[in-house]
Amino acid sequence: MTRPLLAANWKMHKGPAEAASFGAEFASLYAPRADRTVVLFPPALSLAALKASLADRADIRIGVQDVHQEAEGAHTGSLSAAMAAQAGAGWVLAGHSERRHEFGDTDEQVAKKVSRILEAGLRPMLCVGEKLEEREGGRLEAVLRRQLEAVLNALTPADAGAITYAYEPVWAIGTGRTASPADAAEAHAILRTILAETTGAVAAAQATVLYGGSVKPSNIGELLSADGVDGGLVGGASLDPESFAAICSAGPGDT
Ligand code: PEP
Repeated sequence: MTRPLLAANWKMHKGPAEAASFGAEFASLYAPRADRTVVLFPPALSLAALKASLADRADIRIGVQDVHQEAEGAHTGSLSAAMAAQAGAGWVLAGHSERRHEFGDTDEQVAKKVSRILEAGLRPMLCVGEKLEEREGGRLEAVLRRQLEAVLNALTPADAGAITYAYEPVWAIGTGRTASPADAAEAHAILRTILAETTGAVAAAQATVLYGGSVKPSNIGELLSADGVDGGLVGGASLDPESFAAICSAGPGDT
C-alpha cells in the first residue's frame, strides 16, 4: 500500500462556524504524521473558515466537493475550478454518486469536470461505483469501465496520473452497509485492471485508490488491510472530529 490517504466528505453539513470548531478540535486530536495524507472536503462556503482554523496545519489538505464542467459563464449557483483554486482549495471531488444520481451528472460532465480541475492545477478525486442492482446483475466491471473510460479517454497519460480514485459502491454510501474487505479488494482489482489498460501497468499499480461507503473507526483497519485499498473516503463518520481522528490514526488490521 502507498501512504494511506484519509478523506472527509462533509456533504451539506457544517457552516463556517461549525467547520472552524471542527478544525480546532480535529487539530488537537490528530497530530501531523509523515505516513498519512488527510484531506477535508467541507461545503465550499466553509472552506475559508476551516482553512483559517487549520492555518498552522499544512499537513491537512482542503478541497471542495464539486465544480462546474465549464470554466466560467452563466451557471447560477455554480463554482468553477479556478475559483476553488483561488479560494485556497487543493483538491476537488468529481463524480460523487450523490452528484451523479441526485443532480444527474453524466459521465461526460464528470470527464469535463476532471479536465477543468486539472487545468486549474488542482487534484481530482474521482469517485466511481455501482448501484446494488448493477452489482447483482453482474455489471460491476461494465459500470466501473464506463465511468473510468469516460474520464481517462479525454486525458493524456500524464494528466490521468494526477487522479486519485475512490471506489464507492452506491449501496454502501450512507447506508451503514459496508463492503467486506473481499468485496473492496475485488472491485479495486477490477479498477486497477481497467486503469492498466488505459494508463499502463506502472501507473495503475501506483494509483491511489480509496474505498468509500460507511467507513467508521471500527472497520477502517480491516478495509486498509484489503488488497489494493490505499485509504478511505468517509462521509458520516467524518463529521465528528473524534471519530475522524480515530479513522486517520488507524493502521491496517486495527480493530
Ligand atoms: C461519501 O459520502 O463519500 C461516503 C462514503 O459516505 P458515508 O461514509 O456516509 O457512507
